[in-house]
Amino acid sequence: MAAFVSESSYPGRWWNPLPDGRLECRLCPRFCKLNEGQRGFCFVRKRLDNEIVLTTYGRSSGFCIDPVEKKPLNHFLPGTSVLSFGTAGCNLGCRFCQNWDISKAREWDKLADAASPEEIAREARRLGCRSVAFTYNDPVIFAEYAIDVAQACRELGVRSIAVTAGYITREARADFYQHMDAANVDLKAFSDDFYHRLCFASLAPVLETLKFLKATNVWFEVTKLLIPAENDGDAEIHRAAEWFAENLGPDVPWHFTAFHPDFKMLNKPRTPRKTLDRARQIARSKGLHYVYTGNVHDPEGSSTWCPGCGQLIIERDWY
Ligand code: SF4
Repeated sequence: MAAFVSESSYPGRWWNPLPDGRLECRLCPRFCKLNEGQRGFCFVRKRLDNEIVLTTYGRSSGFCIDPVEKKPLNHFLPGTSVLSFGTAGCNLGCRFCQNWDISKAREWDKLADAASPEEIAREARRLGCRSVAFTYNDPVIFAEYAIDVAQACRELGVRSIAVTAGYITREARADFYQHMDAANVDLKAFSDDFYHRLCFASLAPVLETLKFLKATNVWFEVTKLLIPAENDGDAEIHRAAEWFAENLGPDVPWHFTAFHPDFKMLNKPRTPRKTLDRARQIARSKGLHYVYTGNVHDPEGSSTWCPGCGQLIIERDWY
């Protein structure tokens, strides 16, 4: 794959002209309204010559081969390798972002590789990866590229995984997910206040995405990063687990993962192990069958147990 750092101007989908002359991006619930030359909140979609273009089509911030459990997905092709990559930018503004050097990238030197969808699919197969993951930053903002990669992968029998915050509009959601085989959706908190204050976003579209996925054939698992004194209270976890059980059912896996101080949230401690255990117990008390802890060594909380007889099914420790 050749070095390539300039931006693309790939024609974007999901936008409309407004009566006042601006163009409204309708890919994510920010609905950015752009004058000529302006970029959206995500930075990678901009108005150019009276249309909205994607500036990161075919550009990657780098590739890595991971265990699929690192996405995290514990019930999708367990024990296999996944070819992971991302681009630049993000449509959320999380102060605790754990990949901020990529998601907040404003310089094209982060985009070191040029890669066509067909090249990525071929490389995944050559490297023995059963799937490709759009990760490190949110694939919603490079949806046209992710969809083309997923289509090329399907032709070669390689699966596609979206690692996402689920912040996408209803009109783009169906288009995007019909090409995905699996997703891990980050449910960052069960509070609109948290989403507003710490992510510059809102909770409702994320819950809509989860309910949408439940009605599709896309395999999905959910992650919640537990941040001390922000989203780790018992009351919030009880409410979230009740919503989860009622709307997603007992068999959708849920991962509670440990936070480490990063980006603009350096004043919080790491998540104590007992917080992860407590969250897992609360979720299990609501009848959820597959609740995991993550980013810690915890063989019990990382492993898969039969919900019927309690037998160990898949033993794990971290990845
Ligand atoms: S995808 Fe980007 S440009 Fe479009 S609405 Fe979201 S943040 Fe704005």
